[in-house]
Amino acid sequence: MSQINKIFINTTWGCNMDCPRCYIPKNLRDDHKSRLSAQYLNKVLKHQSIDQSSDTVVMYMGGEPSIIGKKQFKAYINAVKKALPEARHTVVTNFFNLPAWLTNLSINEFGCQIETTYANGKKQTLSGNESRYQEKFIKNLTAVTLEGVNCTVNVELNVETIKAGIEPIISIMKQSNAKDWAFDYSVNFDEFNHNPGYDKFNYPILTSSTRLRDYWSFVHAIKQDQWVIDSEVRIAPRSDGFNVLEGRSFLTINANNTVTTNPLFSTMSALQYSDIDALNSSNIRENHQRRAVSRIHPCVGCDEFFDCQGFSSHIPIQQEGVCAGGLSHA
Ligand code: SF4
Repeated sequence: MSQINKIFINTTWGCNMDCPRCYIPKNLRDDHKSRLSAQYLNKVLKHQSIDQSSDTVVMYMGGEPSIIGKKQFKAYINAVKKALPEARHTVVTNFFNLPAWLTNLSINEFGCQIETTYANGKKQTLSGNESRYQEKFIKNLTAVTLEGVNCTVNVELNVETIKAGIEPIISIMKQSNAKDWAFDYSVNFDEFNHNPGYDKFNYPILTSSTRLRDYWSFVHAIKQDQWVIDSEVRIAPRSDGFNVLEGRSFLTINANNTVTTNPLFSTMSALQYSDIDALNSSNIRENHQRRAVSRIHPCVGCDEFFDCQGFSSHIPIQQEGVCAGGLSHA
């Protein structure tokens, strides 16, 4: 069994925004008091399946982790440091708010490397205001970058963002000076949460508002933009995300004191386990691995497999003559 070296800690389900396609159902993200138990975290981190070396990365996320406050956040960091003294830590925040303590933690505890998420549509405040979110996101991404923190922006490439074109995103790149960007294939988690379904490998059946063809046109247009090239903005490679091989080393510790593999599965009760032993004996990793091998069958012989590996596991491997990695298969 491979060792776990990418740990996602869901500190809370609660969020200070109300994005309709979020992977956390609305009734959970409205629970601003939900918290992962520090005692449960301590117990999970002691498991022998976890790699104790400096290869291990711990990502604090939510919900929105900034809503838990500095004291609770520090308590989680201290628990992780005690169990995994060599691990690297980082955070995924939505930048709706940027308390000074989070900037300080980013500098002092996260090695000036953090992550955020962004979309140009279907991201909104609790009162449904999209433009207010856009203003605050740009302001806070710019502020943290000015402090010398490198923030990777994970763009949820949904249909609204694609329809708006590449210019709004390039404008944010220019204003914020953020240099690291990744483009995720948007998932309609609202549809899944309304009507959950799993395939024969017990993998969630997920749909998207985006077509592969449109996703790749957009990403290629960004990559080929002369300002982006000249400014040395980095766009994450295909194999950098939730690809087939990485999933084996994932562990997500959920805000309701359960564990799962991929953070996208956090609130899927069918994929939550009481602890790592229960997860290991469930065969879920093996089942999902079998699905992954079956999924990438059309990739046999592809010259780009080493670089692409079939891209993210939840993306259709082929759609309308385009594969997950962006090649045409006429
Ligand atoms: S580029 Fe396409 S065919 Fe090649 S490995 Fe990626 S998804 Fe598979």
